[in-house]
Amino acid sequence: MLNQVPVVREQIKKCVRCGQCRSVCPIFAEFKTENMSPRGQVFLVQMLRDGEIQPSDKVAAKLSDCLLCETCSSSCPSGIQVHEMIQAARTYVASQRPSFTRKLIFDTVWSSPVLLRRTVGLIRLSQRLGLQTIARTFGLTKLLPGDLSKAEGILSSIPRRGARQQLPALTIPARGTRKYRVAYFLGCATDLLHPEVALATVEVLTCNGCEVVIPSSLKCCGMPQVANGEGTVAQELARHNNCVLANASVDAVVSDCASCTSALKSPRYQEVECGGQAEIYKKVYDLNVFLVDCLKLDSVPGSIPKTVVTYHDPCHLVKAQKVKTQPRKLLRMIPGVELKEIPERCCGGSGTFALTHYDLSMKILNHKVEAIAKTNADLVATACPSCIIQLEYGLRQNGLGMKVLHPVQLLSQAYQSLDK
Ligand code: SF4
Ligand code: SF4
Repeated sequence: MLNQVPVVREQIKKCVRCGQCRSVCPIFAEFKTENMSPRGQVFLVQMLRDGEIQPSDKVAAKLSDCLLCETCSSSCPSGIQVHEMIQAARTYVASQRPSFTRKLIFDTVWSSPVLLRRTVGLIRLSQRLGLQTIARTFGLTKLLPGDLSKAEGILSSIPRRGARQQLPALTIPARGTRKYRVAYFLGCATDLLHPEVALATVEVLTCNGCEVVIPSSLKCCGMPQVANGEGTVAQELARHNNCVLANASVDAVVSDCASCTSALKSPRYQEVECGGQAEIYKKVYDLNVFLVDCLKLDSVPGSIPKTVVTYHDPCHLVKAQKVKTQPRKLLRMIPGVELKEIPERCCGGSGTFALTHYDLSMKILNHKVEAIAKTNADLVATACPSCIIQLEYGLRQNGLGMKVLHPVQLLSQAYQSLDK
């Protein structure tokens, strides 16, 4: 079964054991042991494929020690997509060890926008009623499974209303002459946890001649499912979303979430077509790329107060999509912004990884927070909601009061300064 997956069948034999991937992997940097390296993961997948080891709890745990950051894949001289191999192995192992909880979270709830919204609403309500604080005081959070007892503080405050509830309509007209009709892939995290990013995205797109369509039936991009072994569900989500996007009759599909865009361009989405409309993935753009390369933005009206900004590269943008220059170009074109660089390095968030591997995630995050602190920046910009959550938590934990914003929020602030 595992050996039928193309990435395993065709790529595993290409590993020349050079160890290049070890030198860049953030997990290996913490442990320095072969079995915590990408090469070790390739061995593990090989042994699973050959039936030398069985899909046990221990193997599942070992496979879960990976951020799916794609750093190894982007630097492997043999072109091996190590992260895809790990994803395939997680799906295989999970299929051999069905779990009711995993199915409930990633298949039933997370794959249904309505149920996900209600669940996030319940978490918010418990925060508002102080139940979270009461639970912490009486040690009840320690009863949560796995690392969740430690990680429950990562989501500090959940907004009262998601982006979908705040946006005026599902089709928002362009201001001025229409240049493009764009589908905005509004991801779960942006919608429910960072609605202000969605509002800024819609504002900047419409201000630049885009009619923005937000199809109501879009579901999760499938990244959380694939990361947690529910690859079959992720495949079904890809089919569903591709059909919705194919029927939207748009010139481009744009997302402000690095992980969503990366998912929408992944082999999962490339392999499914809808109603004869293949290759939707060729229309998918990261928002920064769309603004700079398609809309040819080279200046920004208005300004923001003088602000020193440092930019964090989300792995799903810089590694998975090779997008490095466009967010920086956007930031530099905002009058008032001074950009200070930090070393490119994963922040350890990686969606649900911070919830399932809290201690390890925090070790990786600490390197990032140290680098940010050295810049004395006023603000951190990054183009991924998962990174925003992780960085906000790390800065808060370390007593640093910097805000973390998506570049599009700074653009939107500059546009709004004209109205004042
Ligand atoms: S860099 Fe590629 S070829 Fe080298 S050990 Fe890692 S996976 Fe194998
Ligand atoms: S995807 Fe990232 S964390 Fe996982 S093995 Fe590769 S470099 Fe390490």
